[in-house]
Amino acid sequence: MKTLTLPNSKIHSGNLILVNADHRYQNTDHTDLVKITGPDTDIRLERCAAALLSELMYKIQAENQIVPVSGWRSKKEQQTIWNDSIQESGKAFTQKYVAVPGHSEHQTGLAIDLGLKKEKIDFICPDFPYNGICKMFRRLAAYYGFVERYPKGKETITGIGHEPWHFRYVGIPHALIMTKYHLTLEEYIDFIRFYPYQKSPYIYQEQGSSIAVSYLAASEHTETFVEVDTDKPYMLSGNNIDGFIITEWRRAHGA
Ligand SMILES: [Zn+2]
Repeated sequence: MKTLTLPNSKIHSGNLILVNADHRYQNTDHTDLVKITGPDTDIRLERCAAALLSELMYKIQAENQIVPVSGWRSKKEQQTIWNDSIQESGKAFTQKYVAVPGHSEHQTGLAIDLGLKKEKIDFICPDFPYNGICKMFRRLAAYYGFVERYPKGKETITGIGHEPWHFRYVGIPHALIMTKYHLTLEEYIDFIRFYPYQKSPYIYQEQGSSIAVSYLAASEHTETFVEVDTDKPYMLSGNNIDGFIITEWRRAHGA
């Protein structure tokens, strides 16, 4: 076991940060952004999210049918989109579908808007239906760490209208747990609070793998200490509110 020292500023970075109207994106760390694969695209995502999106697209042979519409955005770009949308579509529409600058998931590099390939693609609300190739994408998305972030029926929780086209990378096993229990990220962050670190972690088990997920509140001081078994894979993420989510692979697939 090894004790890691986490500066409390780290609660604002990682795959599981919650960014919404109540929780501004405030990560000051450098995000490792890369261009996603595909012809003539300038769209960028965080490195892991980009790699897994590309693997999923390849798996379902969707490269010529699904197009990435929007990935990482700077705060300035989000402001421009907000202003343009207000002018073109009015305040009510904009508040429903466009996040307030500073509060957009797109600023994290972990969100991607996807559209069905067609001649004219709506930039704000691209068509991404629940059938055909898009259904195949949805069926496998969680296995690659992605979730539909703004589902129908959860508008009061997410604060954003139903967006069938917006996917968020949270990683494995989180996307699978969220999908299993139909949880939005807001709900998942609260769910994990019931599983305190080193006391009673949530155990995700599938096909011989065992992964522990737990919550650790940030200390009242400037640093939080966490003890991890460095012989096994682990992942730490802030929740962008008040603490960390710790993911520990206890038994590898098939081992
Ligand atoms: Zn989006």
